[in-house]
Amino acid sequence: MQKQYFELDPHGDVLLTLRRPDHLDFARSARRAERDILVATPEVDSNVHESVQSGKPTASMDDPNASDNVKKVQFLLSSRHLSLASPVFDAMLSGCWKESTVLDERPRKIARRENRDTSDSELQVRHEISATEWNTEALLLLMNIIHGRHRKLPDDLHPETLAHFGILVDYYKCHEITEIFARRWIHKNKFYLPTTYSSFTTLWIFISWVFSDAAIFEEMTEQGIKESQGPVNAMFLPLPPAVSDAIEEKRASSLQRIIRHVDKIREALIKGEVHRSCGDGCSTMLLGTLIKAMHEHGISESQLLNSRPCPSLMQIKQTLLGFRTPTWYNPSDYRQRSAGHSCSVKSLLEPGIDGILKNLKGLKLNDYRVQQEDEVPKV
Ligand SMILES: [Zn+2]
Repeated sequence: MQKQYFELDPHGDVLLTLRRPDHLDFARSARRAERDILVATPEVDSNVHESVQSGKPTASMDDPNASDNVKKVQFLLSSRHLSLASPVFDAMLSGCWKESTVLDERPRKIARRENRDTSDSELQVRHEISATEWNTEALLLLMNIIHGRHRKLPDDLHPETLAHFGILVDYYKCHEITEIFARRWIHKNKFYLPTTYSSFTTLWIFISWVFSDAAIFEEMTEQGIKESQGPVNAMFLPLPPAVSDAIEEKRASSLQRIIRHVDKIREALIKGEVHRSCGDGCSTMLLGTLIKAMHEHGISESQLLNSRPCPSLMQIKQTLLGFRTPTWYNPSDYRQRSAGHSCSVKSLLEPGIDGILKNLKGLKLNDYRVQQEDEVPKV
């Protein structure tokens, strides 16, 4: 068994044991999401999912024989600091949670065995609490903040670590004490936000949601709506379903609006309502081009929504505006140049599609960020 030990309070009365640390790997989750998007039934690592969503140990960790063979990290902490910083720790240390054990009710030797120096009879560990699979670096950051060891905090934080930190802040409900540090780390990163959709977009949606940064939340959700190829994968982050559902609803409804716009143009060409001055030849040529290209590229609502991966809205725009109008000469138009008649499918579709995408904004944080800081998750 490998063990790491961090002493946040030399006179601490709480021993927090983190079992199976650093289990959630965002890069691995992103690769799995990319693979799952290609198949109809995604494989889900239910252990990771349940653990991160609930913060509780997974089934394998409930097996005492299994836990003896895995790495664990221990933190010597102050119950007073923990209780003041977090209503969740407060509830744990009040003895209401199964994660907590009051050692006064157990043989003294157990308390000593768990500590760094078993010969130190002065240690007054009264509580054992446990956690599973959290990121070690993020948990150490949180404990340094809670215990006032702010000089140990870095000036900058990688978005992945910031997301791990956000998971802990969200779970232990310690937004207030971490707020000033989180804002500093977010500010350091805000000039390096992803400019195209990737797993980092999801990380930033989660980070901005936990730490209530409305501008980044709106920008990153807009990126998800416009550029994701199907529903945004939460990568086992405890993002509220209301947020991921809203992103998907906006993506799907915008796709429907684009298809309706294309259908409207097609109907107008059939009825001869556009480019009347060019004569029937122009609208007939454009209608044929549009129908043929839509068939070739599978541009229909049902085909697009059911395809794996589903093209993103930006990819659909690119496809539609890439429809090539054949060179054609209108016999009645003496002004046309050698390039042929100037009307094109692109010039018909572009204003409407641009209008739909220009007016498509991300989510407003206040619509989804309910006051959850005071809520204590149920165990
Ligand atoms: Zn024309």
